[in-house]
Amino acid sequence: MSTRREFIKITTAGAGATVLGLNTVGSGIFKWFGSQVEDPVSDDVLTPFPTYCEVCFWKCAGWTYVDKKGRIRKIVGNKRDPHSKGRLCPRGTGGVGMYYDEDRLKTPLIRETGKDGSQFFREASWDEALDLVANKMKEVKEKYGPESFGFFVHGTPGNHLEHLGRAYGSDTSAEPAFANCRGPRSAAYYSTFGAFIGSPENTDIRDTRCLVLIGSHIGENMHNSQVQEMSEAIDNKATIITVDPRFSTAAGHSTHWLPIKPATDIALLLAWIHVLIYDELYNKDFVEKYTFGFDPLRKHVKNMTPEWAYSITGIEPAQIRETARAMAGAAPAVVIHPGRHTVWYGDDSQRERAMAILTALLGAWGQRGSLYLPETVSLPQFPQPDYPEPKWNWRDLNQGKYPLAMMGITTELLKASIPRLNYKHQVKAWLVGGTNLPISLPDKKLFREAADSVEFIAVVDTMPMEVTGYADVVLPEATYLERYDFLRVAQNRLPNVALRMPATVPKYKSKPAWWITKQIGQRLGLHDYFNYNDYSEVIDWQLKQIGTSLEEMKKIGVKSFPRKTGPPYLGKNEDYTFNTNTGKIELYSSDFADAGFDPIPVYIPHPEPPQDFYRLIYGRAPMHTFSRTINNHNLWDLMSHNNVWVNPLVAHSLGLKNGQKVWLKNQDGAVSSFPVTVRVTERIRWDSVYMVHGFGHSGKKLTRAYGRGASDEEMITNVMVDPVMGGAGMRGNFVTFLKEAPKNNGKEVSA
Ligand code: SF4
Repeated sequence: MSTRREFIKITTAGAGATVLGLNTVGSGIFKWFGSQVEDPVSDDVLTPFPTYCEVCFWKCAGWTYVDKKGRIRKIVGNKRDPHSKGRLCPRGTGGVGMYYDEDRLKTPLIRETGKDGSQFFREASWDEALDLVANKMKEVKEKYGPESFGFFVHGTPGNHLEHLGRAYGSDTSAEPAFANCRGPRSAAYYSTFGAFIGSPENTDIRDTRCLVLIGSHIGENMHNSQVQEMSEAIDNKATIITVDPRFSTAAGHSTHWLPIKPATDIALLLAWIHVLIYDELYNKDFVEKYTFGFDPLRKHVKNMTPEWAYSITGIEPAQIRETARAMAGAAPAVVIHPGRHTVWYGDDSQRERAMAILTALLGAWGQRGSLYLPETVSLPQFPQPDYPEPKWNWRDLNQGKYPLAMMGITTELLKASIPRLNYKHQVKAWLVGGTNLPISLPDKKLFREAADSVEFIAVVDTMPMEVTGYADVVLPEATYLERYDFLRVAQNRLPNVALRMPATVPKYKSKPAWWITKQIGQRLGLHDYFNYNDYSEVIDWQLKQIGTSLEEMKKIGVKSFPRKTGPPYLGKNEDYTFNTNTGKIELYSSDFADAGFDPIPVYIPHPEPPQDFYRLIYGRAPMHTFSRTINNHNLWDLMSHNNVWVNPLVAHSLGLKNGQKVWLKNQDGAVSSFPVTVRVTERIRWDSVYMVHGFGHSGKKLTRAYGRGASDEEMITNVMVDPVMGGAGMRGNFVTFLKEAPKNNGKEVSA
C-alpha cells in the first residue's frame, strides 16, 4: 500500500558524457595522490580556474582545467593550500566525474498524482518550482509560524539554505555532521579545553613523535593533508599506536596494533590514564599550571589498572603499559587523534573526554607535535539586516534533553515532524540540501514516518539520491565545478581563505544553491538578505575587507595571512586562560557535573552479540565519501561494491567461503536489500564483521550504484543515544548471514 508520500523513482533522460579517467594513482595508500603541481598556467589548450573540492569535506583547494570548448579536462591541487599541499587525493582528482555524471538531476521536478492515484514527477520550469517552494514557505509561516519549516543541511549548499532559513525566521535546522558524526568530540573537547577541534583537525601530525589512533582510519579515511602528514610522521620514525578491532591500513603502518574488543575503549583509556598517573609519567608542570581536577581524577582511576582493563578489552597489561610509556616518552609531541565519526555506543562524549584527559596529562596541547592552536580568517558578513529572532529553534525541540548539544539533532527534527509524538513544537515542512537522509540517518522507520507526516518537502541536490524520491519539489543543483560558493575559511596553522568559482557553465538546467536560495528569498520579500545580482559580488566585497580581492584570488586560489593570535604553540610557562568555567583544562568537567553527567569518564559494559551474531563495524574506503560518490564513474571504476569482512574462524564454523554472496540480517530481523560478498580475512576479530559504508543504493536512477554491495545503514536499527549531546551511536548492531535470498528482497528502500 502506498503512503501519502510514495517514493518516486526519478526519471532522467540519458545523456552522453565524456569520461576522463584517473591517471594519477600511485602504489601505496599513503602515496596515493596526484603529483605536485606548479603554479597553474594557461596555455593554448587549457585554462585553470580555482576551486575547492566537494568530494569530501576536507575542502582541498585546486585548479580546474578547462579546454577551449568549456569542457573540464582535469583537476589538480593548489600548492598554496594547507589542506591539499598541492596534491589531491584520488577522490578529488576524480571529482570531475560529478560534473560528467549522466545520472545528474537535470531539471526541476514536481510531484504529481495521477488519476489512478499513482505518484510521479513531472518536469517543471524553474519559475514554477521556485514559486511552489516560496508559496509553501509563506503558507507554513502563516499557519504555524516560520519556525515550523525545518532545514536539513550539509556542506556548502547547506550554508546557503541556512541563510535562507534564518532570513525567513527559522533556526530549526540540523545537519547529520553533528549528531551522526562529530558531535561527541565537540561536546567533550569544548568542556575540557574550552575549544572545539574543528575541521581540518588541528593535529600537528607532521611534527609528532607519537600518533595514537583510536578507531580512526587515516589512509582509508582519506583526509588529504592528514594522510600526507601521517606519511611524513612514519618517515620520521614516529611511534604509531592504533587501537582497532580491525587490522586497518593505519594499523599496518603502526608500531603497535591493539586489537581491542569493540565497545571497551573507555576501559583502555582509563588504564592508560592510571599508568601515566601512578607510574608518575604524566607532565607534572603542565598539569599543575593548566589543569583543574587532578586529585579527583587520580582517585577515580586508582583501581583501573592494566590488569583490570585486560579482562574488559582483551589487551595484554604489558602492552597497555608499554604503549603508555611510549606516549610519555614522546610527550608532549603526542597526538591523541580525537577521531571524526565518533558516534559509536552512546557514551561517546565520555570516551572523547577520556581522550582529551589523556591529551592533557601528556601536556600534548598547544605544543609542537601535539594539538596546535589553530587560527581562522574572520570574514565580515556582507551587509544585510539582522536575522529575525525565531520564537523557538532547534534547541527547543530537544525539550530539555541533551544539554551539551551545540547544533540541531537530526533525530529530534524528525520526531518533531511526527504529530503522534506530541512534541511541543512541531515541524510541518522540510527543505533538504546536500544530505541523503534515508541513507545517512540510522533509523529508517523514523525517517519514513516523519517524511510521510510533513506537509511539504523540497530537496536541493546534484544527483537523484534516495532522498529526492520523498520530495514534492526537486531542485537540481550545479556541481561545485560550476558555481561560486562561500569562501573557505577553515582553521589551520596559518589563517587562510580559498576561492571556489565556476570553471564552466552549469550543465543541463542545474543552478547554484546561492541562486536557488536568492530566488526563493526574493519571492518571500527578503530582498535585503540577498542584495546582490551574482554571488561573486559578495565574495569580492568580503575579500576586499580582508585585504585581497576576487581578481587576486582568481590568480592564486588560496591566500594565507599572518596570525593575529600569536604562534600556534604555547610558550614555555606561558600564562593561558582556557575558555572553560574554571579557566583551566578541566580533567574534572564542571559542564558535565552541572548537567548531571559523570564529570570523569566511567566505563560501562555494553551488550554483547547474541549467539551466532557478530558486531557490525563500518568505515571508509579511500576512493569514496559516504554514499555520495558511489555513482561517480571515476570512483566507481576504482571500487564498485563493498565486501563483508569475516574472520576465518567464523567462516569455518558457518561454512562461509571467500567470494560467496550472502545477505545480512540483524538482531531486529532487518535484512539487507542486496547481497554482499564475503571476504575471509584475519584482519577482523572473530566477534565482529566489517563493511565499507555507503554502498547498497536502492535508487535505480543511480545506475552504477544501484544494488552494488550491501548497505550498512539498513542493518543499523538499534541507535544508542548519547544523553550528553544527542549523538546517534550506531555500533550496537549485530548481524548474521543468510545464504539464500529472502523473499521480496531487493526492493526500493523506501517503497
Ligand atoms: Fe577532495 Fe580528497 Fe581533499 Fe576530500 S581529501 S576534499 S576528496 S581532494
